[in-house]
Amino acid sequence: MAELSFYDEGALVSVLTTQPLDRFLDYKAPEGGCRAGSFVEVPLGPRKVIGVIWGPGEGGYDLSKVRSVIRVLDVAPMRDEMRTFLMRAADYTLNPLTAMLRLATRAPGLSDPPSMQKVYRLGEGTPDRMTDARRRVLEALSHYGGLSFTLKELAEAAGTSGSVVKGLVKQGAVREEDTPRDRPYPHLDCDYGGVELNPDQAKAAEQLCVGVTSGDYGTTLLKGVTGSGKTEVYLEAVAECLRKGRQALVLLPEIALTAEFLTRVEARFGARPAEWHSGVTMTERRRCWRMVGEGAAQLVVGARSALYLPFRDLGLIVVDEEHDSSYKQEDGALYNARDMSVLRATCCGAQVVLASATPSLESWANAEAGKYQRLDLTSRFGAAELPEMRAIDMRAEDLPGARWVSPTLVGEVRARMEKGEQSLLFINRRGYAPTTLCRACGHQIGCDHCDARMVEHRFLKRLMCHQCGETKPMPDTCPSCEVEGRLAPIGPGVERLAEEVTELFPDARIAVLSSDLFGSARALKEQIEAIAAGAADIIIGTQLVAKGHNFPSLTLVGVIDADLGLQGSDLRAAERTFQLMRQVAGRAGRVEKRGVAVLQTYQPEHPVIRAILSGDEEGFWQAEAREREAAGVPPYGRLAGIVVSSPDAAQAFDLAGEMARRDDPLRRIGATVFGPAPAPIARIRGRHRVRLLVKAAKGVPLQKALSDWAGQFRLPANLRLSIDIDPQSFY
Ligand code: ADP
Ligand code: ZN
Repeated sequence: MAELSFYDEGALVSVLTTQPLDRFLDYKAPEGGCRAGSFVEVPLGPRKVIGVIWGPGEGGYDLSKVRSVIRVLDVAPMRDEMRTFLMRAADYTLNPLTAMLRLATRAPGLSDPPSMQKVYRLGEGTPDRMTDARRRVLEALSHYGGLSFTLKELAEAAGTSGSVVKGLVKQGAVREEDTPRDRPYPHLDCDYGGVELNPDQAKAAEQLCVGVTSGDYGTTLLKGVTGSGKTEVYLEAVAECLRKGRQALVLLPEIALTAEFLTRVEARFGARPAEWHSGVTMTERRRCWRMVGEGAAQLVVGARSALYLPFRDLGLIVVDEEHDSSYKQEDGALYNARDMSVLRATCCGAQVVLASATPSLESWANAEAGKYQRLDLTSRFGAAELPEMRAIDMRAEDLPGARWVSPTLVGEVRARMEKGEQSLLFINRRGYAPTTLCRACGHQIGCDHCDARMVEHRFLKRLMCHQCGETKPMPDTCPSCEVEGRLAPIGPGVERLAEEVTELFPDARIAVLSSDLFGSARALKEQIEAIAAGAADIIIGTQLVAKGHNFPSLTLVGVIDADLGLQGSDLRAAERTFQLMRQVAGRAGRVEKRGVAVLQTYQPEHPVIRAILSGDEEGFWQAEAREREAAGVPPYGRLAGIVVSSPDAAQAFDLAGEMARRDDPLRRIGATVFGPAPAPIARIRGRHRVRLLVKAAKGVPLQKALSDWAGQFRLPANLRLSIDIDPQSFY
């Protein structure tokens, strides 16, 4: 697949389309020819679909029947390294290559010709009369140098109306021009801003820059507690990468974090980078996709799918909060963006920076094994110190039923309020109550389509299934025994905690941060900014608050139920609890006031709780690593999770049973099949789910064996088989 493979008109070419067919299709090259990597439009039955020229056609049949490529699209061709990446990613994840191509073409209107729009820049003329509004328009234009604005952007930047701009155009003071709608992103100035790094940071930044300068692949685990200045350090690596003329990508685990991050990029580089996530408009997505491909976007900040953008010359990928489970795509094409970042970087000679206060055991072990470089930032930047950590032994607290805030914690919160400082109460459960129970018959209200309990959301006045999203109104009578008025909430969710806290502290200003209380990312951002500015005494939050927001006057974190995560049977339960508790605790005392984190627990002697309290991180990782190694599970062994699902339970069980019996391809590599067993959530959206688990040693060709194995079976139309390599969840 040489970069220069060119196919003259009429030559036979092989095309990969985005359609779910598991093969390449042959076409004839269009008028003017095409080359390997060209994005094209091809006929498929009565439709026109998008595809990519993958190489020469197969031939070997009646060539007169072969149809022609309709046209080559006006976008940058897919690079060789991208094709290599997609193929290797498909081989690793066992997703069909067509599904990988869909990930790589998720921008609207790629087949549309580039359209034009009017933009405005500074003109030569002077206005006859200067008004305030006019001055602001001219200032906005000169402040951003040669940059052009759309009418809307300019009016906004100047705080005036479009007609003022139009007036200036008439006088020649502002120039109106037609340009392609997808404009290049503003130039990022690597020497624009930046802080003076402390010696620790400077050393780490230098190491990262050495990697970036090499132009080769390399991965670094950048570990440092929240607030130690990791972001400042990796922004230096970004700067170095841009100076080399290459592109950089920063992945964030949560859209809610982008706004704060964009502001920091602007302060560092003088302009905003390209953005790629589900909150970006369709037009902006298309602009981003095209400009990334043309090299006219130097830096992209985005969600995991940004990894599949058509970078022209990607030199650095930062995966911030690399341990975050949202990097694993759990729907459709399953992949882990952290692992795929490493794969992509090996394909294009890029550096990867995995940043975290609490790395995943996978990354920790890769650093131990010398596969990744490891850099540690040991102290928090400036005066801020790690919070002091204490347990509240709930067995010794006097707490009435249906109450969750212990008297000790109440005292701590009150003390903060008296000093005008903020407290955060953390509970990792959305909604009002996880269970609704009928006190007459003992029935628990479940979802009609899933094997899951409905969660009461009082704010929405509905019951909601957290599996499938189905909601229904809260009934007055029990759906099972039809007795009225005996339905009762059991257990706490964030809304119920808020109710309790409101009763406990009637004069406090209370803010609740939970993803379902906000209609939009913008509303959430505004709320977070208000809290950071001091608009709340007590913040009540779910997982959402654990991720990197800065609340300067927050000095107390209270974890309502530190035992919650320890109950699961998930192999990562200990690791996840450890990470989450440390992340949450890291919210306290970020600036100059020392913080305290208290954990309410019924098992203060549990090894994970003790490790959290003692702060002996390396000790925790080592103990956890030994246990996993002994059990032969990741990162010391390999797993694949198989789910067979069907509307018909017997059908799913039959196939899963047959798969367990006919396991020769797996046995040949020494792998073992466990199951079948009903999945922990045995029904989702009306589909019955049966699980198998495949366990193998490291270093065996697991994917090949899995596809040989799965290839033996015919799947009836209703049945779905999903294979999850390196599963993160086992529901
Ligand atoms: P992390 O990414 O590790 O959580 P940040 O890079 O966000 O840490 O740094 C925490 C805070 O400290 C931020 O407000 C950041 O601007 C500030 N900070 C970090 N390093 C420096 C520095 N060398 N000089 C000035 N401020 C810094
Ligand atoms: Zn459901």
